[in-house]
Amino acid sequence: MDFMKYAYFKNEITEFEKATVSIATHSLQYGTTCFGGVRGYYRNGKVSIFRLEDHYIRLINASKMLGFEFYISWDEFKNIVTELVKKNEIKEDFYMRPFIFCSEPRISPKKAGLTFELAIYMLPLADYVNTDNGGMKFMSSTYRKYNDAAIPTKAKAGGSYINSFLATSDAQRNGYDEALMFDDAGNVVEASVANLILIYRDKVIIPDTGSAALEGITVRSMLEILEYNGYDIQRGKIDRSMVFTADELLVTGTAMKIVYAESLDGRPIGQLDYSAKALPGKFYKLLKSEFEKIISGGHELSKKWLFEIK
Ligand code: PMP
Repeated sequence: MDFMKYAYFKNEITEFEKATVSIATHSLQYGTTCFGGVRGYYRNGKVSIFRLEDHYIRLINASKMLGFEFYISWDEFKNIVTELVKKNEIKEDFYMRPFIFCSEPRISPKKAGLTFELAIYMLPLADYVNTDNGGMKFMSSTYRKYNDAAIPTKAKAGGSYINSFLATSDAQRNGYDEALMFDDAGNVVEASVANLILIYRDKVIIPDTGSAALEGITVRSMLEILEYNGYDIQRGKIDRSMVFTADELLVTGTAMKIVYAESLDGRPIGQLDYSAKALPGKFYKLLKSEFEKIISGGHELSKKWLFEIK
């Protein structure tokens, strides 16, 4: 992977290559990290970051939930990010990974005596998923999404991504693009690293706020775009039959922005062409074009959501 030259590590901007830790670190052994995945865009000669403050808030909340006892203010955080972006002399779209972790070597998972710190690295990232030749092929995962009684589902906790790793690897091993995750009761939760929006009988439905899904910043944005365009959102339970017979299943997250699911377990979803292949639907097309306008700076919502690096 092609990481950018500078990273933030041990309270300073340093060369990415020099930002290293011991193999015995607590965070490597036990997955004791929480992280953010943030996208930045280079458009019309300007660098802007999508909803940086919301990513900051989720990161701090995750640290709280996990009991890391770490804090940094929004002002300090945004100053570090600004300095890092400038230092990397960005001229392309990118991905940024801020995370809170413990670099101390330990052989026990307990928290006592450990200190947590912030690090950030960056890499170029253009489109992550290409849907020019169709949407994503989903497989119902045999791995359930863990529930909140096991691990806080609203924290992007490093160790919990073993769940995504198992699900997505199985899906790909079986020839699919992505895993559809269900909770213990069989309700649809999310994809392995993205949220879902179901269009069902012309209504927009997403899983309950109290579901095991991560509170994605992109899905929140997509729902606001739909509301801005006059649509109502319903929250509720979604089962597999609803997905099979949905008008559209949309997949949304920082990396993929918005894509559509073409099938679940080999059954096409939504409107079909005469070869029984699913077509991209109207909600997908609307969200894709609105989102592109927003990140290019030409939408009423751009000002609210883009943090410009000056
Ligand atoms: N669910 C999971 C499990 C994820 O890892 C992600 C990616 N962060 C999302 C949903 C989407 O969240 P966001 O829109 O904030 O990237």
